[in-house]
Amino acid sequence: MSSNAMPYLREDVRQLAPYGVSPGTDGIALQRNEAPFELPEPIRDEILERVRTAAWRRYPDSNQRDLREATRRALALPDSLDVVFASGSNTLIQAILTACVDPGSAVVVPQPTFSLYARMTRFAHGTPILIPPRADLGFDVSEILGAAERHDARVIFLCRPNNPTGMTLPLSDIERLAAESEALLVIDEAYAAFAGEDALSVAEQRNNTLVLRTFSKAFFGAGLRIGYAIAQAELIEQVSKTLAPYALGLMATEVAKVALARRDELAKPRAQLIAERDRLAEALATCPGVTVVPSHANFVCAQTPIPGDQLTERLAMRRLYVRDLSEYPGLSHGIRITVGTAEENDRLIDALREELEAT
Ligand code: PMP
Repeated sequence: MSSNAMPYLREDVRQLAPYGVSPGTDGIALQRNEAPFELPEPIRDEILERVRTAAWRRYPDSNQRDLREATRRALALPDSLDVVFASGSNTLIQAILTACVDPGSAVVVPQPTFSLYARMTRFAHGTPILIPPRADLGFDVSEILGAAERHDARVIFLCRPNNPTGMTLPLSDIERLAAESEALLVIDEAYAAFAGEDALSVAEQRNNTLVLRTFSKAFFGAGLRIGYAIAQAELIEQVSKTLAPYALGLMATEVAKVALARRDELAKPRAQLIAERDRLAEALATCPGVTVVPSHANFVCAQTPIPGDQLTERLAMRRLYVRDLSEYPGLSHGIRITVGTAEENDRLIDALREELEAT
């Protein structure tokens, strides 16, 4: 035990750096994959009206009955599938690991991907098995399956489209993973609405597949803290046991009901965002020495002649904030740029071009 004033703390927690995302509120924030615009005003108004007249003094329904029913209807879910909500999909990642991982259990995490999967696996006393990417940064499905079998893995995390590359896997690969693996396959669809394809059909067929979604990206509501999981009813029931009670507050519950019912109204702004993403990617590809990974999400991953940490710092001096990817395997010269407004994206491209020409 180290000589520390807080001997009750876990040593691994003590050693760990906080999960840091730079605030970057004094300039153009393109580092957190947030939406460049707010939910449409009529949707915000309906939400506020519902919240105004709700019973704040009561606990929300811990079984989320109304919300689950509303979700089923809005998404036309088949009877076999059920859903559970929590304050952000981060919370659900934690619940899944609590439900599945014993001390030392293997959890397969293909790289590069969302860093929280490995971090939370360690919190749960599991062992992350990191699978290196192929040369094109894509996931190697045979490697994933081989590692899962060798290590007797409990969980495989698969982010589709993947953060931070924006790449996606064909549905046939997801079907193969689900069919050939004994582990729980968690398909994180945080960005799937930007790709126009999801894997619900696999969850419908397989009781080892769970789909994770969030309101933070394609619902333009990162501040609302709403995430949900869809899987066969029995699996949802088991994972739900490990959530703290009342996992979604009353206000978020009202937001979710309205936003899901009116989600068709988000199709147009989302299409604008996708068009802007493609414009951003094309413009980036014309910058000297830059290669762009084809993106299916609301961000673009670019590799440049400058190491990612240095370029991120240089852009931050201009109050342009992007995500440094230099610590991810295969991305030492990578940055991730969230799609902003057209004006923000133009500012970023101009600055990037200047930095690259000055090198
Ligand atoms: N999954 C992925 C792949 C993400 O990139 C993020 C957020 N960056 C999350 C989950 C977390 O989403 P939430 O805001 O719902 O906790």
